[in-house]
Amino acid sequence: MLPDRCSIREKGKDCVNPPELVISITVDKQEYMIGVSCLKHKNIFNEKLHLLQKQGKVPKGVVNFSGLKPVGTDCIRMDADDLINL
Ligand SMILES: [Zn+2]
Repeated sequence: MLPDRCSIREKGKDCVNPPELVISITVDKQEYMIGVSCLKHKNIFNEKLHLLQKQGKVPKGVVNFSGLKPVGTDCIRMDADDLINL
């Protein structure tokens, strides 16, 4: 099961955006899912992960961002306006 919210918490508040990216780390050809992120927080998530890797809190592997596949989930949210209006 994937979380239905971006995993980022900013200034004590959870991000309310739906997740758009799955973040995982590949270590020894094994992929570990770390969390999900909205597009806005992709870079923040990336920086945070590198920091945590330096601190040894997450494995020092390759960080991957992959698009969340809407197929196979039961809560698909498709709003064309959201996609167009930036
Ligand atoms: Zn977010």
